[in-house]
Amino acid sequence: MRIARFTAGEDPQFGVITGELDDQGEMDPDATLVALAGDPLYVGIKLTDEEHRLADVRLLAPVLPRSKVVGIGRNYAAHAAELGHDLPAEPLMFLKPNTSVVGPGDPVFYPRQSQEVHYEGELAVVIGRICRDVPAEKVGDVVFGYTVANDVTARDLQRGDVQFTRAKGFDSFCPLGPWIETELDTGDLRVRTFLNGDPVQDGSTRDMIFDVPTLVAHISSVMTLLPGDVILTGTPEGVGPMGVGDEVDVVIERLGTLTNKVAARD
Ligand code: MG
Repeated sequence: MRIARFTAGEDPQFGVITGELDDQGEMDPDATLVALAGDPLYVGIKLTDEEHRLADVRLLAPVLPRSKVVGIGRNYAAHAAELGHDLPAEPLMFLKPNTSVVGPGDPVFYPRQSQEVHYEGELAVVIGRICRDVPAEKVGDVVFGYTVANDVTARDLQRGDVQFTRAKGFDSFCPLGPWIETELDTGDLRVRTFLNGDPVQDGSTRDMIFDVPTLVAHISSVMTLLPGDVILTGTPEGVGPMGVGDEVDVVIERLGTLTNKVAARD
């Protein structure tokens, strides 16, 4: 099931999308969206009789993390190598504030403090239940679904700071969307990023050093996860700079395409 958060001109609502993706990760232009009563993370899937054409609504970030976005660094060997790092012995965790989240089509604002802002296309996990100390074999019980993320990073600030907080924490540095897919096998999904239409990243989740169950088990052994918390699972090789005016598409097989443009911060 694909669940989107959207506005048809008034307050944000959730809805279930009816329509199929093509091989390029583009949704059927005739897809529709059936509105839900309330937030499905808290009240379950309650369909209403309100229906919209997907093309007529504006999609929003499909989840607003209640407490945190947990990032994982260097989870693909080739990406760790391109940044000159050894492979981590355990998942390398960092936090992005929930205020960094924006939706599909929203601008990513280029901060004044950086001259080197990078895209990082990633698979994102949306947590569905309050949980801690989740065994890897039970992780499926606490995952609500999956979406596409761009873990935007000010690489120059990341190199200079000990912590990743500033480099990854600016407002608009966590685009999520376009929707949440609740049924997805994450073992071998192609993850691609395009900069102004040119392919720049092309990896597969099968190359993750730590897979999704291992990550959720590890993170939940450290901190309680809440419904709506988001985990970014790391980026394949090919990260690079983007500038004001650039458009970035992150495409994940069977999930969809997340598109954002970089804008100057006024
Ligand atoms: Mg990342």
